[in-house]
Amino acid sequence: MSIVKRPDIKSSWYVTSIVKGMALTFRNMIYNIFHKDEMPTVNYPEEKYEYGPRFKGSHILTVKKDGSIRCTACMLCATNCPADCISITAAEHDDPEVEKFPISYEIDTLRCVYCGFCEEACPVDAVRMGPEWQQPGLNGSSFVHDIQHLTRRPNLKGGYLSILDEEERHNSGI
Ligand code: SF4
Ligand code: SF4
Repeated sequence: MSIVKRPDIKSSWYVTSIVKGMALTFRNMIYNIFHKDEMPTVNYPEEKYEYGPRFKGSHILTVKKDGSIRCTACMLCATNCPADCISITAAEHDDPEVEKFPISYEIDTLRCVYCGFCEEACPVDAVRMGPEWQQPGLNGSSFVHDIQHLTRRPNLKGGYLSILDEEERHNSGI
């Protein structure tokens, strides 16, 4: 048999606990003001955390040496995406040597779980997850990144060369 104890007036009086909590918070605030070097937090945005090289941040669509997009619209990234947040529309290319290319490539980063499966599924190093992680936006649509953002946003300085082209360049000694 369980006995439910009715709270007495003393235990239902919260003011003492509130005052104790506020005193603790105030004491820590004063301590932190005079011991800034010991604070475990970072004063963002003045200070930024340095992530390791394996950190998976914002997506990048890489480009070929001639500046055209590397993606061949094979859909492997979209098929492997567990969050179903990649949408690609393929089109025929004018160049007969290129089977198809994406006229639209969108990633809904609000649904993305940053697992990196898209990067691993891509057979031609066309999608990479880079070191950027700051993605401010004013509304939900700002977080749906289109092909322009993924390929040519200012931080990429005109596009990010595919590793295949980097290897070709390295092998040819350029
Ligand atoms: S990182 Fe994962 S969830 Fe995000 S787009 Fe790539 S496969 Fe999808
Ligand atoms: S990014 Fe890679 S996997 Fe995705 S459609 Fe383009 S070529 Fe295929």
